[in-house]
Amino acid sequence: MADNKSPTIETQLAQACHYIDEITGGINPPLQFSTTYARDDSYQPVGDYSYSRGGNPSWQALEKVCAEIDGGVEALCFSSGMAAVCAVLETVNSGEHVVAPRIMYHGSQDWLRRISQKRSIGLTLFDAADLDQLRDAIRPQTTMVWIESPVNPTWDVIDIAAAAEIAHQAGATLVVDATVSSPVTTRPLELGADIVFHSATKYLNGHSDVLAGILVSARDDARWQEIGLVRTLTGGVLGPFEAWLLLRGMRTLFLRFERASQTALALARHFENHPALEAVLYPGLESHPGHAIARRQMKNGFGGMLSLLVKGGAEQAQAIAAATRLFVRATSLGGVESLIEHRATVEGPHSAVPKNLLRLSIGIENCNELIADLEQSLNRANAE
Ligand code: PLP
Repeated sequence: MADNKSPTIETQLAQACHYIDEITGGINPPLQFSTTYARDDSYQPVGDYSYSRGGNPSWQALEKVCAEIDGGVEALCFSSGMAAVCAVLETVNSGEHVVAPRIMYHGSQDWLRRISQKRSIGLTLFDAADLDQLRDAIRPQTTMVWIESPVNPTWDVIDIAAAAEIAHQAGATLVVDATVSSPVTTRPLELGADIVFHSATKYLNGHSDVLAGILVSARDDARWQEIGLVRTLTGGVLGPFEAWLLLRGMRTLFLRFERASQTALALARHFENHPALEAVLYPGLESHPGHAIARRQMKNGFGGMLSLLVKGGAEQAQAIAAATRLFVRATSLGGVESLIEHRATVEGPHSAVPKNLLRLSIGIENCNELIADLEQSLNRANAE
């Protein structure tokens, strides 16, 4: 049983920041929109702040909660997930080498490829399902290993503890993009990662109405200091209202994530042997190659993301997406509404994602209605 000193993640999230306003007694933090802060007669700041690009009260509660739920020493919020990704990658110097999965969030990989060319940074990609490839990819110049788990959008599961060991033997930093698993199922810092990253646009906020990124660090070291400096100097900072909305969204993260995971598992099981499909990719299925690692690594469910490999290629996949009535055809993930996405179209001509792959982000709607909608869309598209 949990003791009072260490509340469970449900409680930490539900009471995110546990705020009681000293003046009004209000239980939600007020919004402070000032970009600049007054100084006294001797030109010292009156309070803790000077200029809001460097720090402001709107981030305080949010970053504290984020550091707590991921078990880190400190968190930094950014104006988007990609602003956070770029801040981390800004700390990699020319001549150094980065290792990342061959299939991963395409935006992060595009940026990795770009800096690799522009700044002479070595880049080796490995098959996410094969840790030996990660081991073989390490060079004497490797300073960063960047992973996701589960990998977007095939949901291969990477053993974070093993990846940490490989990275640390090489003296490299392990960064984990935990957007898809969220702190509800996976706490990468506890498994040995050095920095955990979330596109908070997704599950943390959960309502498809805020762009934000979060980094949490295991320690306050030179790289972490540099990331903070990059945020201040490049200005990819989160606005006060977005920070406030994000904190509000996080209070229901556990419930939303738990529900989405239950429904995703039910859908994956229901459609696993459907005649219109080649495969259902979901780490919660026993048939999934990464299931054993997922069972060990993911608590409280296997997440709300799954993919369908349809029989018949891109056109058939798009026809199925077009025939859905409840699923919204849109990119992104982690919101309360279920989305269906032809991933190769969204990623563009260079995408390595199979052309017959449909990515589903499961929301919090009625599970049976979602199953019925997908069933009718598979049948309708098949009949045409
Ligand atoms: N990482 C993953 C796994 C994502 O899915 C995304 C966005 O789709 C990002 C990073 C980038 O985050 P943002 O869109 O908030 O910039």
